[in-house]
Amino acid sequence: MANDSCDGCGRPVTVTGGIANLWTFGEGSEGTAMTLELADGTSHLLCYPCIEALPDEGEPTAAVIERLEQVDEETSRLGVM
Ligand SMILES: [Zn+2]
Repeated sequence: MANDSCDGCGRPVTVTGGIANLWTFGEGSEGTAMTLELADGTSHLLCYPCIEALPDEGEPTAAVIERLEQVDEETSRLGVM
């Protein structure tokens, strides 16, 4: 189990399954974050609320990820920069 922080909002996340899952996201959820590989070849560790907040259309970019911000314990959003 590795503790890290989300590249979007910066909240602490658990990458692999463990005792400290903060959120449950239905079937087979492990940990509270996953690494997203972008089209430009970079990879970013994102918590599930940030993944949910990503726009549905098109490939997310590093600029989009920089705009992610925490709203509350279970919610993230895309801020305006
Ligand atoms: Zn996040």
